[in-house]
Amino acid sequence: MKQVTYEKVTPELIEELKAIAPGRTYTGSDINDDYTRDEMPIYGSAKPDVVVEALTTEEVAAVMKLCNDHHIPVVPRGAGTGLTGAAVATHGGVMLSTTRMNKILSYDTENMVVRVQAGVLLNDLAEDAAKQGFLYPPDPGEKFATLGGNVSTNAGGMRAVKYGTTRDYVRAMTVVLPTGEIVHEGASVSKTSSGYSLLNLMIGSEGTLGMITELTLKIIPMPKVTVSLVVLYENLDECISTVPKIMRANLQPQAVEFMEKEIVRMSEKYIERSTFPQKYQGKDINAYLLLTFDGDDEDQVNETLERASEVVLEAGALDVLVADSPQLKRDAWAARSSFLEAISAQTKLLDESDVVVPVNEIAHYLEYIKEISKNYDFEVKSFGHAGDGNLHIYNCSNDMDIEEFKRQVDDFMEHAYKKATELGGQISGEHGIGHGKMKYLEEMVGPTNMRLMEGIKEVFDPNMILNPGKVCYKL
Ligand SMILES: Cc1cc2nc3c(=O)[nH]c(=O)nc-3n(C[C@H](O)[C@H](O)[C@H](O)COP(=O)(O)OP(=O)(O)OC[C@H]3O[C@@H](n4cnc5c(N)ncnc54)[C@H](O)[C@@H]3O)c2cc1C
Repeated sequence: MKQVTYEKVTPELIEELKAIAPGRTYTGSDINDDYTRDEMPIYGSAKPDVVVEALTTEEVAAVMKLCNDHHIPVVPRGAGTGLTGAAVATHGGVMLSTTRMNKILSYDTENMVVRVQAGVLLNDLAEDAAKQGFLYPPDPGEKFATLGGNVSTNAGGMRAVKYGTTRDYVRAMTVVLPTGEIVHEGASVSKTSSGYSLLNLMIGSEGTLGMITELTLKIIPMPKVTVSLVVLYENLDECISTVPKIMRANLQPQAVEFMEKEIVRMSEKYIERSTFPQKYQGKDINAYLLLTFDGDDEDQVNETLERASEVVLEAGALDVLVADSPQLKRDAWAARSSFLEAISAQTKLLDESDVVVPVNEIAHYLEYIKEISKNYDFEVKSFGHAGDGNLHIYNCSNDMDIEEFKRQVDDFMEHAYKKATELGGQISGEHGIGHGKMKYLEEMVGPTNMRLMEGIKEVFDPNMILNPGKVCYKL
């Protein structure tokens, strides 16, 4: 693939950047330390030469054109909550942040879309839409990520099993290409068969093809009733093997999350609240399913809950708890949503993956992971979006040397990804490839697909300035 040499950032270039974004261009010790890493620092940290917090599409275009003319790397940056090192300036240059582009621009309630700047936080859109009776369905665990970041990673989350991922809610976007040209992809209409979908190429491109500055996103009416069930199991096998049965029963859960007891205890300790029972009639509870159902009709939702309870009890569950009070539902989901923070807070060295396998292979796959993990010195913890086969595997150590940890994790993940691929799965269900998973992508997709990806990169980014060292562009 095309190899380039980047120029150094000069004092003159910094002055030009300051003229484009006065008061919002930072260098040296004025760069906030948060800009040196994302939420999975094991994939590396690096300080950009300059950080520019843009306000408008035109500013982004001016920065991009300047950097393209001078062969300076540009790293698009949202909230930095990514988990693959994708928003880290591994090759220096300019970090271009959208965090100040945080305006919800307009709702079109006839066509059920909302127009936002790319730096709007997921949480802000979710709350604002809810006030007006709408749901923006994508629900990744981190609510303080930007929508631009969510689109650039095709973020998934808890509700993907019923509503799909971020991709399914992107109707249109404004993009600044690495050359500084501004293009509009898609439209607010719900159908299109109008040539190659450049819109879909941008979704999940992890800041390597263009910088998204504005988005038009689909919203839906807010379901009137939402109820969660906590299902208790004596062992993980029974817990996981219930999932295809729930899906086959056409119960259309909004979320299906599985959890092992160790991780639940860690999370409860972290949030200082205990919601999940530890014993049932003298038996230890070792695994849980957290299910959510929604609808507009209370009786209908209650009927679904009853049918769901029958299915899980028949499949071996010990008991089912209905989280029907807002407090209980909040506590159960708070524990689930805090897994990553809880593990991070209690672990020195951490590596995370979000491999995805067919739903009917989850149990088999987790058995394999448990078995091979015995060959390594770190601990492996897993949980995940059981409804869509997206599993989070955490490799944790408090006593290993970092280089040895990385070496062993790499060997372990080679096996883990190979097995997932054999079962018909993929390396990443929602977090992306970024910097940390590049090697495995190449192994999974093969040389022909890599050539296609590299060709696309070169067409969008002839000088290869945008987010180098990520996804398919190795330097
Ligand atoms: C506690 C926790 C829970 C999480 N749970 C989930 C989950 O359930 N599901 C899930 O999918 N993810 C999850 N994540 C990962 C993370 O929140 C997502 O990857 C999120 O989409 C990243 O958004 P961001 O704004 O933080 O982007 P960043 O981390 O800043 O950037 C991510 C990537 O997007 C690019 N990018 C950002 N903005 C733009 C833009 N405007 N234009 C072009 N490229 C851009 C960057 O260059 C980078 O490649 C979780 C993270 C944490 C810390």
